[in-house]
Amino acid sequence: MSRTNLLGLDLKGLESFFAEIGEKPFRARQLLQWIHQYRVVDFAEMTNLSKALRQKLEETAEVKPPKVEQEYLSKDGTRKWIIKLSCGNSIETVYIPENGRGTLCVSSQVGCALECTFCSTAQQGFNRNLESSEIIGQLWLANETLGKEPKGNRVVTNVVMMGMGEPLANYNNVIASMNLMRDDLAYGISWRRVTLSTSGMVPMIDKLREDCHVSLAISLHAANDKVRSEIIPLNNKYPIAELLEACKRYVDVQQRRHITIEYVMLAGINDSTQDAKDLIRILKGLPVKINLIPFNPFPGTDFRCSSRPVISRFQKILTDTGLVATIRKTRGDDIVAACGQLAGEVQDKTRRTQRLAEEKVVRFQ
Ligand code: SAH
Repeated sequence: MSRTNLLGLDLKGLESFFAEIGEKPFRARQLLQWIHQYRVVDFAEMTNLSKALRQKLEETAEVKPPKVEQEYLSKDGTRKWIIKLSCGNSIETVYIPENGRGTLCVSSQVGCALECTFCSTAQQGFNRNLESSEIIGQLWLANETLGKEPKGNRVVTNVVMMGMGEPLANYNNVIASMNLMRDDLAYGISWRRVTLSTSGMVPMIDKLREDCHVSLAISLHAANDKVRSEIIPLNNKYPIAELLEACKRYVDVQQRRHITIEYVMLAGINDSTQDAKDLIRILKGLPVKINLIPFNPFPGTDFRCSSRPVISRFQKILTDTGLVATIRKTRGDDIVAACGQLAGEVQDKTRRTQRLAEEKVVRFQ
């Protein structure tokens, strides 16, 4: 019988685990602190549990974090960890220090199934969802590697679910992980400081609204359905109008002050004056902050980043109408850790890599 990995269980999950093995639910609280605050993985060291209970835990459970295979340090202080999973694939996690805060960019899937044409993760194809222990394990590892003391200053103050994968396509595991991020017995990061980014899975945004009050970021990237469907095929299923309606429901119910709109700047694709005007029109009435992301290139892509003057002009059109629009600082690009560059090592189960290679051959013949 395989042993349960307690690393990925949130308070509720741990309480049911203890109920199943005939123990009191309050044990869950003790375990959360041992695992996430003290990062103890050996039950024998959990000194406030009886010997008999420690023995029982050793027989039925384990605390098994994923392993860092390689660490890269950028000259701007950004760190990237390649994390080796037991299945042989690897994923990437990025730590971005800024004055007074540290943001961890967390992956939710091995690869991604969404096929956005400008994203390097998509080119890798899709293998599987990450387990909750592998998602929260990235935060666990960041604290371990950066040497956080159990009661010391927080090194990770913010989390963005913006690594590899579509977090809302791995809903339950992402929710359990975000519950752990917030729990004071684990990481104590408020939901305001946890941001989930989605390419627009409308029904799951509605579900998230009921379950978990995190900050929401939308990868919009285009102001009309024609362009958006070309670069984000999911738009065919959930077009812009439906997506923005779901955002409205999210801010209304969650009393969120705003939603972040991500907009990657692609030269000649979505960066014209008309695009900026269309963006203003469609976002009317929705409290948003717009984050313009300079496109980060990766091998094999035909897209180019809009020039600096074009990005500045685009930004000015937005800000002139009173919208908040910032340009995302590119961090960690010297270690291939910037947005959309995370690729890991994915054994593609969708054969997307093969299809793409064939398409390229056809295109260039
Ligand atoms: N699947 C989710 C989470 C990924 S977040 C989502 O789509 O939101 C990563 C962010 O970086 C998204 O906004 C994504 O669209 C953007 N991105 C992807 N490829 C990029 C690239 N090459 N350059 C800049 N940003 C990119």
